Amino acid sequence: MINKIYSVSCQLMVLAFFFLCTVNPAAASVPSDQADELPSLKGKKVLMVWGGWEGHEPRQFTEKIKPHLEKLGAIVTVSDSLGVYTNEKLMASFDLIIQSWTMGQISGEQEKGLLNAVRNGAGIAGVHGGLGDSFRNNPGYQYMVGGQWVAHPGGVIDHTVEITNQNDPVTRGIKDFKIKSEQYYLHVDPNMKVLATTTFNADHDDWIDGAVIPVVWKKTYGKGRVFYFAVGHVAKDFDTPEAMEILTRGIRWASGSKYLPKEEWVSPVYPGKNSK
Ligand SMILES: [Zn+2]
Repeated sequence: MINKIYSVSCQLMVLAFFFLCTVNPAAASVPSDQADELPSLKGKKVLMVWGGWEGHEPRQFTEKIKPHLEKLGAIVTVSDSLGVYTNEKLMASFDLIIQSWTMGQISGEQEKGLLNAVRNGAGIAGVHGGLGDSFRNNPGYQYMVGGQWVAHPGGVIDHTVEITNQNDPVTRGIKDFKIKSEQYYLHVDPNMKVLATTTFNADHDDWIDGAVIPVVWKKTYGKGRVFYFAVGHVAKDFDTPEAMEILTRGIRWASGSKYLPKEEWVSPVYPGKNSK
């Protein structure tokens, strides 16, 4: 009998070991302790706004991320209307705005409300088309985000996210990772800090073979911190541990605009008149 119990418990231990080693292999490769210096979300007021094209699952994305942020101490308000951007007093109370709104239309008053809030120090964070393909007729909005989606050659494809900055706490310690999702080709503001990229091949559009396009960036708009992550075609993209870790860290970074000094964000990619 004792032998039998021993044998069963050994089997359970082997099973547990097998589970830890095989089911969750990426956990060890995503070191969350590398981001300790990032601002905490404890007590931070976060506005999550969702809507627009449903193919990007804005509701599912919001429902997935909200409890995660609440676990980290954030106080989250959700709105499924852009009308919230016109409430100046309410907007001034938020530390961070997370928008998931692909395409659609924003009124002049709503755009002004959003841009003013960020300029005055609310951070803004978002992924994929929810921030990077929101309001195609609004260059003022795109000036704030720092980029605009233009293509995803081949649709949902296997590609690699290359971590190009190991000094920044948003990506430090995270290794390059593969993901099956849309590989976003974006028109980007060259004056922002790029933390990760992806390299295109000739499989779908031969003229972009070798093109390197940012996947993760941070920048400033007025006093507000802007964080963008091109992954996130559907909510399950964030089941990839590296993707969830980068998103969480970027959100934490962007939530600190009102409390921390402005960071140097311009990183020229062209040889300008001051280059040696
Ligand atoms: Zn998409």
